[in-house]
Amino acid sequence: MARLNRLLAALLLSALGTTVQAQWVSDSWDVMGTRAQVEIWAPDPGGAAAVGAVRDEFERLNTLLSPWIEDSVISRINRLASSEPVHVSEEVAALLNTSRHYNILTDGAFDITFASAGHLYDYRQQVMPDADALAQARSQIGMQSLSLSPENAVVFSKPGMKIDLGGIAKGYAIDRAVAILRDLGIQHAWISLGGDSYTLGDRRGRPWMVGIRHPRNQTEIVLSIPVNDLAVSTSGDYERFFIKDGERIHHIINPVSGEPAGQVVSVTILASASIDADALSTSVFVMGIERGMKLVESLDDVSAVIIDQSGKVFYSSDLTGSD
Ligand code: ADP
Ligand code: MG
Repeated sequence: MARLNRLLAALLLSALGTTVQAQWVSDSWDVMGTRAQVEIWAPDPGGAAAVGAVRDEFERLNTLLSPWIEDSVISRINRLASSEPVHVSEEVAALLNTSRHYNILTDGAFDITFASAGHLYDYRQQVMPDADALAQARSQIGMQSLSLSPENAVVFSKPGMKIDLGGIAKGYAIDRAVAILRDLGIQHAWISLGGDSYTLGDRRGRPWMVGIRHPRNQTEIVLSIPVNDLAVSTSGDYERFFIKDGERIHHIINPVSGEPAGQVVSVTILASASIDADALSTSVFVMGIERGMKLVESLDDVSAVIIDQSGKVFYSSDLTGSD
């Protein structure tokens, strides 16, 4: 009996021992129209709770911001803001203000009212607007037609206009997830949502390696860079698209034409916050190499890798050490 007790005690101790051990925990799932992936260095069993907290936050933001969920705040704005003020939370107001900031910074290339035209495309059903519908939609694009009062009331001055936060929502969601992990005491993690990712800390003594894939040959890595505490976002014309009459109809819309932006095929932005990397990757995609790179060079702590139609790769000067 005493022997058995000793054995049980030993088993219990070893079980307790494992509960305080840290380990890598990874998970992936579908959310926000894309694939989420996390890798977290966490105490066992804290890893499962940390992944659960990230899952809950992504789900919350999807329900809040998706224009395809009928009672999301974005759907409510799109339905009502041309006829009555729509009151939004501080969080949503902050996202609208960040959107405005990027709209001004990019001289209109980043514009959440792109959706007036963007929502006429259906990439799965291969549907695009005809010339009349597109002309009408173009007249509804322009962020100056959206006002946000100090009381957080949104008003549209053009009937039928629409917004979509798809250009920054995933970046914002990642920043939120990183804040949640930090609050849980987690020091090493990698989080990605589609083309947006963040590396928290290092990989326990080794850097995280982020690879930029070739947009036309998914198995080819154009550049592999060691990063930590850095956001990396890629916007590509290969994420959501169909081919019509030889033309690639994709999901990054030039607000001037209401049609897919055509000069480049992929833009990767490195920045300290994921929301900035996300907004800028979409913006630089629309702006093209010359205007886009000029903007990147003017910003502190922002780098870019742009690949054009011919497959040529352009790097911001800090990456090539030429500044
Ligand atoms: P993803 O990670 O979804 O591929 P990107 O960062 O490449 O996202 O951004 C593309 C998304 O941004 C589109 O799906 C759309 O929701 C939104 N978007 C498209 N064009 C614009 C634009 N000109 N300004 C702001 N947002 C845009
Ligand atoms: Mg983006």
